[in-house]
Amino acid sequence: MKLLRFGPAGHEKPGLLDGDGVIRDLSAHLDDLAGHHLGRSALRELASLDPARLPAVSGDTRLGPCVGRVGKFICIGLNYSDHAAETGAEVPPEPVVFNKWTSAICGPNDDVMLPRGSRKTDWEVELGVVIGTGGRYIDEADAMAHVAGYCVVNDVSEREYQLERSGTWDKGKGCDTFGPLGPWLVTPDEVADPHDLAMWLEVDGQRYQDGSTRTMVYRIPFLISYLSRFMSLQPGDVISTGTPPGVGMGQTPPTYLRAGQRMRLGIEGLGEQTQHVVADPRG
Ligand code: ZN
Repeated sequence: MKLLRFGPAGHEKPGLLDGDGVIRDLSAHLDDLAGHHLGRSALRELASLDPARLPAVSGDTRLGPCVGRVGKFICIGLNYSDHAAETGAEVPPEPVVFNKWTSAICGPNDDVMLPRGSRKTDWEVELGVVIGTGGRYIDEADAMAHVAGYCVVNDVSEREYQLERSGTWDKGKGCDTFGPLGPWLVTPDEVADPHDLAMWLEVDGQRYQDGSTRTMVYRIPFLISYLSRFMSLQPGDVISTGTPPGVGMGQTPPTYLRAGQRMRLGIEGLGEQTQHVVADPRG
């Protein structure tokens, strides 16, 4: 299934994309695509519905982030060996874990705002893993049973705030609109191998990132198990698993986003996002 949320920001309704690419309204069946509705049995119930009997929604509706009420937005840094190399870093002996604030989350095609004073806002296409069933001390062998599905994430990053303002990376990762999620939450039955998906990102039609989840260093079962040693994972948590090479800071010379530009990015089978880059109106 390709599940989604549609409607005005903050008032999204749950929906699904049917086999003909038509959005179908699920709001008679659940209040939101969030929390316990992401568990295995709840998803099985949704899968048993006949999409043709659900109300169709106009195709020009706004898509919201594909998961609601995200409790934690956890990111893995330097998780592609070739990306680590382009940033001048080593692949670390254990995963780098950092946060994006949940207030950064936005729809897949919403505008991305350059924060006040930004000179180094950058892009990162990433595979997002959405937790459906929570737990702690999860065994690697059981980890995939905790996954509700997968989505595209753009881990938008302000490199000066991230790397030159002292302390952790979080200052440059959680600005408003720095976390587009979607277009869809794709359930695992539609993703044959999450570790073999092409992924790409373009700015104004120029392809900068052209990678594959094949080159991920720490893989999804390990990451779920690893994270669950340090926190309980809960339904609706999102784990963004790192980016392949081709980010702006890795270019010669480094290249960063300007207002007026357009990002397009996607992952095989998980859909595409498009964001216009704008100045923060309060900047
Ligand atoms: Zn990232």
